[in-house]
Amino acid sequence: TPGIPHDGLEFFLTSTIGIASCPMDATEADHLLQNSQSAEASARQQCKNRYGLFSADLNEQAFKRLQIERDLRKALQNDEFELHYQPKVNIVENRICGAEALIRWNHPEHGLMSPDQFIPMAEELGLIVEIGTWVLEQACTEAVQWSEAGITDCTVAVNIATPHFAESRLLDDVQQTLTRTGLRPGMLTIELTESMMMDDTEETFAMLEQLRTLGIRIALDDFGTGFSSLAYLKRMRLNELKVDRSFIGGIPDDTDSSAIVRAVLAMSRSLGFEVVAEGVETEEQLDFLREFDCDVYQGFLCSQPIPAANFFNLLRREYVPRGLEVNEVDAD
Ligand code: C2E
Ligand code: MG
Ligand code: MG
Repeated sequence: TPGIPHDGLEFFLTSTIGIASCPMDATEADHLLQNSQSAEASARQQCKNRYGLFSADLNEQAFKRLQIERDLRKALQNDEFELHYQPKVNIVENRICGAEALIRWNHPEHGLMSPDQFIPMAEELGLIVEIGTWVLEQACTEAVQWSEAGITDCTVAVNIATPHFAESRLLDDVQQTLTRTGLRPGMLTIELTESMMMDDTEETFAMLEQLRTLGIRIALDDFGTGFSSLAYLKRMRLNELKVDRSFIGGIPDDTDSSAIVRAVLAMSRSLGFEVVAEGVETEEQLDFLREFDCDVYQGFLCSQPIPAANFFNLLRREYVPRGLEVNEVDAD
């Protein structure tokens, strides 16, 4: 369709139509209109410029979504979020060297919900920065308990959402949280994604530099799924590169995945950052990673993400202080 020229620019109109019919979908005007709106909203979600037909199923979905939206706004106040921790394991030393904090929502009706079920919604509703601030505070508070128990080199990693990174507030948030909780900056890793590096590069790099000045660690999450530029990888001066689990899932049998993982390991070694393999589920995968000198792995092979108290117990049971042999610890 041709655009509409105006003031030297060209404008394009699209329309999305929702259809509900009487008497099948409703018999009262209000109800009919409401149902056509549901159909329109659902069509728009799939892609604009199309029409959608109403179905009873749709209403139920829309209703559930509305309910979840409403509940999400109150979840922080009601203290319904919790963090689960997934161990990160140093491959050479075969010891836990850190944990990634992963948020869960303990919904009063739907039970424990995974982040994929509510993080995108929290971003849409503008709640993500508040939630991110809570995660940061909670993770640092819990990590301080580990070091107070004598486990002084287990880092904690927190996922940062794009809107949080885009707001200059992140720097203040991190700084204030470290001061308030007393966590050593080197014990905190923030996980960023490739898409955050895409725009406004000068500002982005300035922000990264300031974060680094605080002494915290920076990781690039889900590496390989976004648009990667080798130029920014070098400039980011990362501490960790986390290879996405879609590649790890393919090793050792899939030749393409194996070649990619080996190339990433070789590149990271020369650029000087640690590689974390995500989603390791089998011994074969771990053998491959060990053979090609991968530093750290994370995955169900060691443990699923578990509640804070369980992780703390695991840590106390499995933890071997750096430089001590297992039997020396036993002799204690
Ligand atoms: P992510 O940061 O890449 O986290 C790793 C995800 O992979 C986790 O899913 C973890 O449970 C899963 N995983 C770990 N090992 C394995 C494995 O061996 N096999 C398989 N199949 N999966 C494995 P989870 O907890 O559902 O989190 C999903 C995503 O939600 C995270 O991906 C992260 O992007 C986001 N997320 C989690 N917590 C937060 C948070 O506090 N804030 C923000 N902004 N995002 C978060
Ligand atoms: Mg992550
Ligand atoms: Mg990841």
